[in-house]
Amino acid sequence: LASRDFHPDDTVISIKGVNIGGGELVVMGGPCAVESAEQIDKIAGLVKAAGGQVLRGGAFKPRTGPYSFQGVGVEGLIMMAEAGEKHGLLTITEVMTPEYVDICAEYADILQVGTRNMQNFDLLRKLGTCGKPVLLKRGFSATYDELLNAAEYILAGGNPNVMLCERGIRTFENYTRNTLDLSAIPVLQQLSHLPVISDPSHGTGRRELVEPMAKASVAAGADGLIIEMHTDPDNSMTGDGVQSLFPDQFAGLLRDLEQLAPIV
Ligand code: PEP
Ligand code: MN
Repeated sequence: LASRDFHPDDTVISIKGVNIGGGELVVMGGPCAVESAEQIDKIAGLVKAAGGQVLRGGAFKPRTGPYSFQGVGVEGLIMMAEAGEKHGLLTITEVMTPEYVDICAEYADILQVGTRNMQNFDLLRKLGTCGKPVLLKRGFSATYDELLNAAEYILAGGNPNVMLCERGIRTFENYTRNTLDLSAIPVLQQLSHLPVISDPSHGTGRRELVEPMAKASVAAGADGLIIEMHTDPDNSMTGDGVQSLFPDQFAGLLRDLEQLAPIV
């Protein structure tokens, strides 16, 4: 079902008037994690003012270590839904377990599957019936074929609204956090009709590389970008402050991107 052979035309996912796929660039921006109602409200206002369409933020965080901040949970879903509503943005948040799919689907417009869960097949099956679009991140050691098979689980469950996300893979290089595989963008678009989103934040792990790799992703044909932005990155509650743009950098990037691709 994910293959172009099966479905020659691009899939366009329409959510409350925003089209994802089929030529228009969609920008999703926001913090790694929802930290407080004030924080997500302020950042939502900045994403909207810069021209973004979707507010990102994790309420449940997949942390490498069990003692790190794990997210504010269901409260965070509520805070984010309120901020999205107030500022006229769609919302995207990560869901980590099948048990939380229903509650996340109640509050968010798009559900994100993180890189560590790309092959959590019970989660994928549950997302097949959740009724909300899904952004499926490529596992950091997954091949294109494995990513497309993971998408297949969601599609086969009855949910046609799946976006594929390149977020960097693990290579021998350790200057960057991951290696953003730009080739994934045209390859996935050739193999599949599903929209392809690039995440230059996790893809590089370094703030100064986000802008060039965002532009490169758009030049390579990405249907959208998901970018971390924080008002106070040095004090962010996850380690992802080092890859988060300052609000003025985020706004400047979106202005530049308008030269490269029409923003919805
Ligand atoms: C995130 O988007 O904050 C995140 C944890 O992403 P990934 O699953 O790509 O590491
Ligand atoms: Mn993050």
